[in-house]
Amino acid sequence: MQAHSLSSVISKAARSFAAISVAAAVTVSASVNAFAQGSVSVVRDAEIEALVRDYARPIFKAAGLRPGVDIVLVNDRSFNAFVAGQRVFINTGALLQSETPNEIIGVIAHEAGHIAGGHQQRLREQLERAQTMAIVSTLLGAGAIVAGAATNSSGLAQAGGGIAIGGGEMIRRGLLGYQRSEEATADRSAITYLAATGQSAKGMLTTFERFQSALALSGAKIDPYQISHPAPRDRIANLEQLAKNSPYFDTKDPPALQLRHDMMRAKIAVFTDGQGAVSRLFRKDPRGLAAQYGDAMATYLYGNVRGALPKVEALLKQQPKNPYFHELRGDILMKSNQPAKAAEAYATAVQLDPVKSGILPVSYGQALLAIGTPDSLKKAITQIRTGLDRDRENATGYRYLAQAYGQLGDIGEAELATAEGHYYGGAYNDAQIFALRAQQKFKRGSPGWLRAQDIIDSRQGRKKKN
Ligand SMILES: [Zn+2]
Repeated sequence: MQAHSLSSVISKAARSFAAISVAAAVTVSASVNAFAQGSVSVVRDAEIEALVRDYARPIFKAAGLRPGVDIVLVNDRSFNAFVAGQRVFINTGALLQSETPNEIIGVIAHEAGHIAGGHQQRLREQLERAQTMAIVSTLLGAGAIVAGAATNSSGLAQAGGGIAIGGGEMIRRGLLGYQRSEEATADRSAITYLAATGQSAKGMLTTFERFQSALALSGAKIDPYQISHPAPRDRIANLEQLAKNSPYFDTKDPPALQLRHDMMRAKIAVFTDGQGAVSRLFRKDPRGLAAQYGDAMATYLYGNVRGALPKVEALLKQQPKNPYFHELRGDILMKSNQPAKAAEAYATAVQLDPVKSGILPVSYGQALLAIGTPDSLKKAITQIRTGLDRDRENATGYRYLAQAYGQLGDIGEAELATAEGHYYGGAYNDAQIFALRAQQKFKRGSPGWLRAQDIIDSRQGRKKKN
C-alpha cells in the first residue's frame, strides 16, 4: 500500500463527507469499488467481519479480555494483523494467504498474548483512544498522520492526536518489533488460549514457519507482520515443541468453519485479484461451494450481471439460509436496476443474519431509497437507522440517510445525518458546521436540535457517548 495515495485520500476525506464514506466505510454492495481502488484502506463486509469475530471471540475470552470484538478489515495485500484494545485490525492479504481458520486464529491468539502480557502497553493505550482510520494509516505507513497534522485544517490532526505526538514513524517502529522475550511470552500465552478452546497451535506454527522460509529467500517480499514478530530458528523450534505437546495438535477446524473460511477467501480473491483468482485458489476443488460462490461473484463483478443470477440461485438451493448469498442476490439485482427485488433479497439477508450486522440493513435501506416512493423512503430511513444503531461508524449509512431525508424534504434531518456522518468519520469541524445548519431547521430544544447540540458540544477528539 502506497502511503502517498493513502494520505491524499485521508486528507481529502477530512474535508469532504463523500470521500470519507469511501475511505472509512464501504458497505458490501459498494465493496467492488472498495477493493478495486487501491487507495481505499478499510473494507466493510458483513460476512468477513462476522467470521473473524467468531475466530477472535473464544480466544479473547480465554485471554481474559473484555467480550465484544470490533473487526477492522484493512485492504492490503501483505500479511499483517494487530490488536488494539477491542479492535482486531487484519489485512485482507492475511486472510487470503491463510489456508485454514486455524492459521488466523493462531495469529489472533499470539496477538492476544502480547496484550495479556502488557507488551507495548503505553502505545496500546494511545491507540485505543485513536480513531480507526488514524490507526489504519499508521499501520500502512506514517504519511497520513503527518499530512493531517501539517494541514491542521480539519479534525484529522486531532483525530490522530493521541498517536501523532510521537510522530507516525516512531509509533510504527514501536509497533514493529517486540522484544525476543515478549515473543516467547506471547507464544506461550497463545498456546494456552488455543488449548483452553480445544484448538491446535499448528496454524500459528505454519504462519511463523512461512515467514522464516520467506526471510531465507533473498529478494522475497517481507510482510509487516514478519518484521514486527521476528521468528528466528530457535523461536520456531520452541514453538513447535510447545505446539506438539498440546493434546489438540492434530485437531482440525470444524468443516463448516473451514467452508466459511474458504468462501471468505473466494470473496477476497475475486475482489482483489480478479476473475481468474478463484479458479487458481480452488484448483483442488473446482466444483465446491466456495468455488461456486467465487464464480458467482466474479460473474457479477466482471461478467454479465444477468448471468450471475442463476449462479447465486444455485448457491441458494444448497444453503437457503445463508444470509450472504441473499445479500449477493440483492447486489446483483441492484446492479441490474431492479431495486424492488433487491430490497426483498436484502430483507431476507437481514432476517437471516444471526449476528445482526449493521451493514445489511443499510444495504436494504439503499435499495428502498432507490425505489424512491415516499413510502419506500420512509422504510429506508427505518432500515438505515437500524443499521446505524448497530454500527455507528458506517459513514455510508449516514450518506444514504441524508439522501432519504432530502428526498422527503426534511432538510433538518438531512443536515443532521450529514453532521453525524462527519462526526463518526472523524471530521469534527465539518460535523459542527452541519450540526449548526441542522439546528437552524429545528425548533430549539426538540430532539433533533438536542442531537445537533451534542455534536456541537462534543469538541474535536472528545468521544461522544453512544
Ligand atoms: Zn509477536
